[in-house]
Amino acid sequence: TSFQSMSLSRPILRGLASLSFTAPSPIQQKTIPIALLGRDVVGGAVTGSGKTAAFIIPILERLLYRPKKVPTSRVAILMPTRELAVQCFTVARKLASYTDITFAQLVGGFSLREQEAALRSRPDIIIATPGRFIDHMRNSASFTLDTLEILVLDEADRMLEDGFADELNEILTSIPKSRQTMLFSATMTSRVDALIRLGLQRPVRLVI
Ligand code: AMP
Repeated sequence: TSFQSMSLSRPILRGLASLSFTAPSPIQQKTIPIALLGRDVVGGAVTGSGKTAAFIIPILERLLYRPKKVPTSRVAILMPTRELAVQCFTVARKLASYTDITFAQLVGGFSLREQEAALRSRPDIIIATPGRFIDHMRNSASFTLDTLEILVLDEADRMLEDGFADELNEILTSIPKSRQTMLFSATMTSRVDALIRLGLQRPVRLVI
């Protein structure tokens, strides 16, 4: 399979070319077609497999299919560490460079006030650590979650190990039920299974 044969739109193909991603990695081959259908996805994948683009590409496509007239935050991507969130933000912005999709990054180490201002402009995609996401959920009036359409839980096993279980549960119960959810985890522990049962609907499990 090639990216061209996945019927991706021109701006996304241009973004891929600008990153010199010429052929999809195995996880991208499996994830992209299923996620484009709007199905929930569970992927067993580690960093280095190309998993970031595997979930970002279908997200960008789904935002482009159904544009909004007014700015609306439509996607939340949660990752265990600030470093991973920053990396994801960088790749995602490059892939989206030929679109007008907007991003915000909510991680520790940056001012809450500046992040609040960024949220007020209703960025399409929010990339966050669970701790910072919850801080904003609880404290900033301008953070409305009812427009979210897609949620990604990346490195779910690590987020649980790092003590974010309560945060994840709170987030899952605060955002719309009718959403697409994608969960990635290097290991499938019983706690990851419990999170899948709580947060995903009839997920397609991808074995890479
Ligand atoms: P990730 O697993 O998402 O952290 O990606 C690991 C590395 O592979 C990153 O440096 C990506 O830029 C790179 N990468 C991801 N997908 C592709 C692709 N289809 N072709 C070439 N490099 C890629």
